[in-house]
Amino acid sequence: MKKTFVSKEKIEEIIKQYPTPFYLYDEKGIRETARALLKAFSWNAGFREYFAVKATPNPAILKILQEEGCGVDCSSLTELMLAKAAGFSGRDIMFSSNATPAEEFVYAKKIGAVINLDDFTHIDFLERCAGLPETICCRFNPGGEFAIHTAIMDKPEDAKYGFTKEQLKEGFFVLREKGVREFGLHAFLASNTLTNEYYPALAAELFKTAVWLKEETGAAVSFINLSGGIGIPYRPEDKPNDIMEIGRLVKDVYGRILTPAGMGNTALFTELGRFVLGPHGCLVATAIHKKNIYKNYIGLDACAANLLRPAMYGAYHHITVAGKENGPASAVYDVTGSLCENNDKFAIDRKLPPIEPGDRLIIHDAGAHGFAMGYNYNGKLRCAELLLRGDGSVRLIRRAETPEDYFATLKLSGLFDDMESLR
Ligand SMILES: *Cc1c(COP(=O)(O)O)cnc(C)c1O
Repeated sequence: MKKTFVSKEKIEEIIKQYPTPFYLYDEKGIRETARALLKAFSWNAGFREYFAVKATPNPAILKILQEEGCGVDCSSLTELMLAKAAGFSGRDIMFSSNATPAEEFVYAKKIGAVINLDDFTHIDFLERCAGLPETICCRFNPGGEFAIHTAIMDKPEDAKYGFTKEQLKEGFFVLREKGVREFGLHAFLASNTLTNEYYPALAAELFKTAVWLKEETGAAVSFINLSGGIGIPYRPEDKPNDIMEIGRLVKDVYGRILTPAGMGNTALFTELGRFVLGPHGCLVATAIHKKNIYKNYIGLDACAANLLRPAMYGAYHHITVAGKENGPASAVYDVTGSLCENNDKFAIDRKLPPIEPGDRLIIHDAGAHGFAMGYNYNGKLRCAELLLRGDGSVRLIRRAETPEDYFATLKLSGLFDDMESLR
């Protein structure tokens, strides 16, 4: 059974002040996971987690992670701006982007972020638009299939990211010639993995490549970035990853490959988003309609504009009904939002306790890639984000959008003439 971090009583108390739908994040859980991650890699002196801002781009969340010692990984100009405004600077910031616009390189260089190049041609591009910094990271794409034992995790050969192995070698020569003094190596080969073997297998691939690069070019990488990809148990039957075990397994690989090559002082970085935040945020919505035709539907006041993953990937998000957690799941529903899109369903044929309009539904594991993927289709507005503090109090960390926000990019008169009666 999957538990929520908030009780029905607490939810009703929150709703008196903040109407549904809203995202709720659990500060205590976020801190615990960040600490567990740091502990698992504490054997590596230079270890650092660069939280992937794109997963949960909220400054209050970034502040919590900063207090826990994390840096941030950004993928765009606005994420860099957000990181800077949240108090991160210089080497606290990793910039891992692709098909990068010149202005983003210029800004990243200006604020001293560590730039992670996605392609060989970006060496020249970066040099022309911003000049090369002394420290550069390069993203590796080994091609082929990425398998663990015999299970194929993903196909890097079909992924748009990274340098080929030969391009890395050539790139290191060119970068060194152009004055780069410090190198990093990065790869992201599979997403949302539910096996303790992913990081160790990725680490082996990266460590071997780093040793080969040192032999071939004489340039030693000073940090290796294992990036994101550690998954979370979205389904009740999923077995969670064991981060301590992952840390131990990576340590073994490090001792086998890097240490004997004289690279035993290489720092390890991670850019986890989902693992750190996913379980510690939920979307809270109210059932506002119940409809029975060929199937039984529960209509919510939230929709795919608030949480896209089910509509986009058919992703499973566990749902509980507040106050009915222990009730028998004797009904079967499609749980829907209001978009004019039939894929706007948070769950299909889901066994749930009987639901009545007014019930509060908690959509689990939405803390990463949840709010952030929101959009405004059908003119729907993004909802608020709230933080459940360690002391039990609740803080608004992003207000809900209003029609004014939606229309902010238009010049139109008369929009609000008839709105007074609605307020
Ligand atoms: C998306 C992304 C991450 C975070 O991925 P998770 O699945 O949330 O761990 C990290 N690094 C890069 C470069 C990414 O694109």
